This record gives sequence, C-alpha cells and structure tokens, in this order.
Amino acid sequence: MMEHLSLNIFADAVFDYNDADYVIFGVPYDGTTSFNPGTRYGPSVIRKYSYNFESYIPDYDIELDTVPIADIGDIFPECLPDLVEEQVFAITREIISDGKTPVMLGGEHSISAGAVRAASPDWYVVCDAHLDLRKEYRGSEYNHACTTRRVFDHATGNIIILGARSGTREQYEFAGSNSITVYSAEDIMKRGISSILDDIISKVGDGSVYLSVDADVIDCMITPGVGTPEPFGITPSDLKEIIHRIAPLSFGFDYVEVCESDYGQAANLAAWMIREMIAANFTGDKN
Ligand code: MN
Ligand code: MN
Repeated sequence: MMEHLSLNIFADAVFDYNDADYVIFGVPYDGTTSFNPGTRYGPSVIRKYSYNFESYIPDYDIELDTVPIADIGDIFPECLPDLVEEQVFAITREIISDGKTPVMLGGEHSISAGAVRAASPDWYVVCDAHLDLRKEYRGSEYNHACTTRRVFDHATGNIIILGARSGTREQYEFAGSNSITVYSAEDIMKRGISSILDDIISKVGDGSVYLSVDADVIDCMITPGVGTPEPFGITPSDLKEIIHRIAPLSFGFDYVEVCESDYGQAANLAAWMIREMIAANFTGDKN
C-alpha cells in the first residue's frame, strides 16, 4: 500500500489490481439519457465525494484502506449503447474470471445490462424508481429505460425490483405476468424494509446475486442530482439497510445514474453506499 493523494481513484482503493478482491471501475456514459444529461460525470464526482469520509467504518469496524480494493479508472465508452454494453460485458467478465468482485460506477443505467450478462447471477436485485422493462425505447433496445428488460431477456428471469414508482401499464403487466417481484417505494414505507428484506433473503436462498442501485430510487427531494428524478422515493436509511442485508449475498455491484446537477447530495450518498457495499460484502455481516 502507498499513500494516495490523487482524486482520480476512489478513496482508500489503494491496492493494485492483482492484489485486489474488489475492482472499482467507471463507465462515463450517458448516450441514451432522456431527461437530465450529465451522468457521464458520475464516476468522477462520486470519487471526489469518496474523500469526504473517514477510512474507518464504525458500523463494520473496518479500516477501508486495509480492504483489498483497486480502482482501475474509467473505460472510454463508445458512442452507441450496444457497443458500450459489449465493453462493459468484456471488462466485467475479465474481473470475475480473475476471481474478483466488480464495483461499477455509472454512467446511465444502460451499462448494467452488460455487467449482469457477464456475471450471470441467479438473481438480479435492483433498486430503481423505474421498472426499466421496456423492450425498446426511442429506437434502441439498449436504452437506459430497457435495462431490467435486457437482464430478463439475456441474463436471468429471477428479478426483484425495490423502490419502484414509475412505469407504463404494459411494464407493470409484464412484471406481473413474468413473476418479477416489485416492491414499490410505498410498500417499503408502509411495511418497513426489514420485513421485506426477510422475504427477499428467504426467496434468494443460496443463490448468487448481482446488486444494481439506480440512484433515482431515493426520493428526489433528498438527492435531486440524478438522470430521471422521481419524488416519493425511498430514504437513504432504507437503501443502507438493503445494501447491508443484500451485499453479503452479492458478487457484483453497480451504482448508476448519479448526475452532477445538485449540490453533491446524490454523489455524496453514492460514495457512502459504495463503501457500504464493499464493507458489508467483505465482512459478510448478514445480521
Ligand atoms: Mn434505471
Ligand atoms: Mn431509474
């Protein structure tokens, strides 16, 4: 390990790739964005805010700079989303075949489909305001609005969506008729996240999980800096609990859709939650 002063890597990600168990990489891509542009700056602004926090994480009693984490920087994305999906597929497959855990920073949500396809998990657990179950949107099946559908069609049919509150009638019907489990933000608020997580964990069993967090799952009145903000979302505490319980079951992670269009709220929370993903997975604390 060495002292690090550069803001070009995630704070405390001080290991080399060969020695790392967790590999952070960024995908600065927002080519299919339909509302707020700027998620291409997500990886750099998340890294910037990662320096806001102490290395010590009291919830897990670990010093993050002793956890074997490498940050290999950003890929240079192509323009077209189908080509970006292949780029993400290739790098994720390489990281997993080297026995390491990918931690991807977005970028828009379309990038997740390639990572999930490469990981080929038993279960896809996604936190998102949106169902993202469109077969095609604005001329492309690779649009950010089609991410969960691409996972369904090309990676796994075992899908759990948390925090949803937006989608077309057709997408809700598609979820219902294909056994896709949807817990809305209102379900989480009324029933409480702990009881819902108990159900998810018993359903997943010993299966492997890929965990994707679309930053817009959080109420946009708290973190407005996202590509497609939606009110009436879940709280940061709910997301923290989701990660605390699901990350130990997961072998691939991403945090996407952070857009540098607020006062840093979305990126600050993202940096915290990425630390949470790694710490929860590393300690294996399932509580
Ligand atoms: Mn999404
Ligand atoms: Mn979304």
